[in-house]
Amino acid sequence: MPDILYANARITTLWPALPAADALLVRGERVVAVGSAATCRAAARRGYREVDLGGGYVVPGLTDSHIHLAGYAFAEHQLDLRGVCDLAEAQRRLQAFAQRLPAGAWVFGGRFDANRWQLDRPLHRRDLDPFSAGHPVALESHDSHSAWVNTQGLAALGIDEHTAQQSDGRLERDADGPTGLLRESAAEPVRALVTEHQAAGIEPMLADALRELLAHGVTGVHDIDGRETAAAYRALRERGELPARVHQLIYAGDLDAAIEAGEATGDGDRWESTGPVKLFADGALGSHTAALSAPYEDAPEDTGVVMLDRVELAERVLTAAGAGIAVAVHAIGDAANTAVLDALAEVRRRGVGASLRHRIEHAQHVAWHDVPRFAELGVVASMQPVHHSSDVALAAALLGDRPLASYAWSDLAAAGAHVAFGSDAPVETLDPIAGIKAATARAGTGEQGRNAIAPLQALHGYTTQPAYASYEEHTKGRLAVGYLADFVVLDADLTDPDVATSGAAQPQVTVVGGRVRWQR
Ligand SMILES: [Zn+2]
Repeated sequence: MPDILYANARITTLWPALPAADALLVRGERVVAVGSAATCRAAARRGYREVDLGGGYVVPGLTDSHIHLAGYAFAEHQLDLRGVCDLAEAQRRLQAFAQRLPAGAWVFGGRFDANRWQLDRPLHRRDLDPFSAGHPVALESHDSHSAWVNTQGLAALGIDEHTAQQSDGRLERDADGPTGLLRESAAEPVRALVTEHQAAGIEPMLADALRELLAHGVTGVHDIDGRETAAAYRALRERGELPARVHQLIYAGDLDAAIEAGEATGDGDRWESTGPVKLFADGALGSHTAALSAPYEDAPEDTGVVMLDRVELAERVLTAAGAGIAVAVHAIGDAANTAVLDALAEVRRRGVGASLRHRIEHAQHVAWHDVPRFAELGVVASMQPVHHSSDVALAAALLGDRPLASYAWSDLAAAGAHVAFGSDAPVETLDPIAGIKAATARAGTGEQGRNAIAPLQALHGYTTQPAYASYEEHTKGRLAVGYLADFVVLDADLTDPDVATSGAAQPQVTVVGGRVRWQR
């Protein structure tokens, strides 16, 4: 393969030795020269090819440090009824969705909340039938406790007037037989069918999601989803169809199996590597399950839910770290963050797995005295800027103005912590430029409005910092000699505050491993 010289570009390298350049030379998967076009031409082998980037703005490929890619892929292929306020709107959405499916395909999805629809009767299969465009339909409620199936779907599932009633579920019936509303264990056949379809369809769905990531300038992910996803990535790679790089986290429930199999964090290569094990210290703010040191503003008795306390956390970390596996612990509330840091301090004191780079996922509301401990303990803060934009009003209502470092990426970074950014898609958009906008523009007032970060630092959050978190800072995250040739060409300068804070930059070309993988 000939060398490729990418010229006529405005390159932000994030390489301290040469921060700005206008050309780079790629040989195979790697950058072999950076600088002026003349320098790169002089270094090129005979027969090199030159690509004119038309004055475009180039940054290192972006990495999403926290994404549920299979969850995202499935959500894209399912009917989404979240936020729907009445039955008519649900029916309109069903019809629009069903009409574009291939013949015979199931309509799955839902996540509807019929409590908000103010119906004076239960949902019925006949509410779905006229809008199903000839497809079997099986939708699940937002809390997954019930399913709503059309007449064709019931027939396909083999559910009819002879189907037995179970003690821990309820198959709703009327004079015409099952109504299509399946509660609790009666909905089990729907769940099983959805799982089966997802397992069978995961590879093409992941491939679609990866293409979408490339179109947003994302060249690598730290994927939070579990083993079946890892198998699908491997299958794509074996067929030469894996276009972006994957650092795959381990489900807590798979930890023993991973240890048994001898897997350790950082194993693998530049395309697929083993990540840390994901643990949960608490829940989420909106459901009052984030663990706080003082009660919620609107619930004077309630300090949230501790999923693993500091002793249990320390035990898990010792088990994992003893086998060379780092942890990535979900912690939202200040009490949860304190517990994780305490546990990691204890493990460090014992000297177990000293070279591991443990992470706290979200690190949303941190006690001020804990801010410097991230750097002291070498803990990566894995944060999702768009959560701040989405939750700022909620956080203000539930936390009031108590003194916490909330979404404090700037304070954490200033205290020396590694701050890696991600999306948490499908909970939020997977667009990293929306993340850079959220991190730099920083909505909200008072305590919640502090902590905007400089554009260049936000860019580090999607490049050098994820590379550090995955032990790859010597090959990824910069455009330097010897690094992987992963980069994005944009139509505007993301290091310009006006561009960053408005999110007004669009990817034009995405290159991974020296090859153009996506082009506008
Ligand atoms: Zn997540």
